[in-house]
Amino acid sequence: MQRQILYNETQIGEDKVKLAKEVLSKLNSDVKISSYKDYVNEESIKKYLKEVSYDFIVDCSDNFKTKFLVNKIAIENNLRCIIAGIKDFYGQIITINPKETACYQCVFSKPLETSPDEGPLPVIGVTPGILGTLEALEVIKTALGLPNLENKVLMVNLMDLRFNIIDIVKNEKCICSK
Ligand SMILES: [Zn+2]
Repeated sequence: MQRQILYNETQIGEDKVKLAKEVLSKLNSDVKISSYKDYVNEESIKKYLKEVSYDFIVDCSDNFKTKFLVNKIAIENNLRCIIAGIKDFYGQIITINPKETACYQCVFSKPLETSPDEGPLPVIGVTPGILGTLEALEVIKTALGLPNLENKVLMVNLMDLRFNIIDIVKNEKCICSK
């Protein structure tokens, strides 16, 4: 619960999608929130993309397979996309402008294989908070045309408190170059 700041212990067992919408609506009543309780897969994403016009996809998923899918959908629909990943004290974040910049698949090629017994990746509670806030910052900066993480990967090392930026280039053989 410590990293899922929209919820508290009294709500264990309740519908997280519904609770998240309630909390966020109270934060800003001018924001229209559409919530969907579903698994993320190619069919569900395509279905929900048809319902509203979107400007960005912000990936907050916890597995490589979904990140590759989100990247692919963003490219197919020419939607700006921000993808972050975390593990214990570490994270990385990339901003994608389809057709223009390198994408997630240019950098990582294919999902890393994880063993079924491995379970979810371990994480210290503050890591998703910091990476999530950086994703929000990327949305704001990208929308305002300010310098962002296009053609770059920001590597976050919270153990040593180091932030490093790696320049990346579009792979001409990648799905984003077709
Ligand atoms: Zn690519």
